[in-house]
Amino acid sequence: MQRRTEIPPTAGLPLRWRDLLPRPPRLAKRAASFLGSDDALLTCSGSAALVIALRALHAMAPSRREVVMPGYTCPLVGLAVRRAGLEPKLCDTEHGGFGFDPRQLEATCNERTLAVLPTHLAGRVVDVATISHIAGNAGAFVVEDAAQALGARVGDDSVGMQGDVGFFSLAAGKGLSIFEGGLLVSRRPDVRRAMGDVQQPWRLDWELRRSAELLGYAALYHPHGLRRAYGDPLRRALARGELVQAVGDDMPDGLPFHRVGRWRNGVGSAAIGRLPAFLAAGNHRAARRLPRLRAIHGVHVFGDGPGQHGTWPYFLLRLCDRATRDLAMDALWTGGQGVSRLFIHAMADYPALGPIPGDVPNARDFAARSMTISNSPWLDDVTFESICRVLERVARARP
Ligand SMILES: *Cc1c(COP(=O)(O)O)cnc(C)c1O
Repeated sequence: MQRRTEIPPTAGLPLRWRDLLPRPPRLAKRAASFLGSDDALLTCSGSAALVIALRALHAMAPSRREVVMPGYTCPLVGLAVRRAGLEPKLCDTEHGGFGFDPRQLEATCNERTLAVLPTHLAGRVVDVATISHIAGNAGAFVVEDAAQALGARVGDDSVGMQGDVGFFSLAAGKGLSIFEGGLLVSRRPDVRRAMGDVQQPWRLDWELRRSAELLGYAALYHPHGLRRAYGDPLRRALARGELVQAVGDDMPDGLPFHRVGRWRNGVGSAAIGRLPAFLAAGNHRAARRLPRLRAIHGVHVFGDGPGQHGTWPYFLLRLCDRATRDLAMDALWTGGQGVSRLFIHAMADYPALGPIPGDVPNARDFAARSMTISNSPWLDDVTFESICRVLERVARARP
């Protein structure tokens, strides 16, 4: 099916022209109050936030150099660990999921472990308490990767506030965006002080580039603009068979590290005022569509456990096998309906990351069977229903 419009793969908060007017740079303060944190540190990306967190923690525990991450996560996490001068290490995920397998985590942590990174993918909340217990037994810190979960809560608390540190991403498409940005929080005053000591240099070249990119994002982040800005490059990459490029998993040349300028800070300060209502509408839409998706035979949709109040940037699905998932993607990926894949590979399989120790068969299996459906407000009921029909058809066609 060919359309003239493109639904974004995730529900990003659209900017308004008024957001672009100069105003006081209060993003960190407003984000902290939204998160229920005493304060928050604004950084130039989620990855940069992780670099700062790890440098601060390493200064507090200099003999520990290993950072344990799930076998299925954003490849930038591996890059950020290396950029902090530390050693990434993989722990396999539980079978059929994306969270740490607790038994493997126990076997992976030791006196060399600096930090463990529970990761709230797709707005879903993972069980930080169990992970903290295991990390604590090894004397390691817990850094919550909440890059995809700004606004998700456990009971009354935001994700990111249970571990020693939490970070969020403000990259394009991840809910609230200043094109590239990040937020760091910690409930521990000593950790906050150590993170505040990490200098973020001012780089006019990077800030000008990001400001231009943010203007482009504000102008093109709607179904017509996205057709050219996102859909056409996606279809070209898929036609070349370059899946990693298609989902934007490819590695940047380095990780820029600089302070966010006043103007972009002000844009975020304005937009964050609309975030609670936008997330609530997304929750509402998701609650309405989940039963339909869950009625499809052979499709598992990840949701919330008791006490978990996740956000819904997109639906994360696991199908019964790779062949069925690939059939679904063949039918849906290039159609502009907001269907995509999350990370293409398990972390062990990105050539650009080089070898990372850790055996991750479950993460590979998850990469082979998972796919995503946007929860953008631009995905209408008719299109959503047509996606469900395709999923029903491929499930039936399964050998
Ligand atoms: C996007 C992402 C990051 C990195 O955030 P950036 O702002 O893109 O640097 C880290 N972890 C996860 C799970 C992500 O999705």
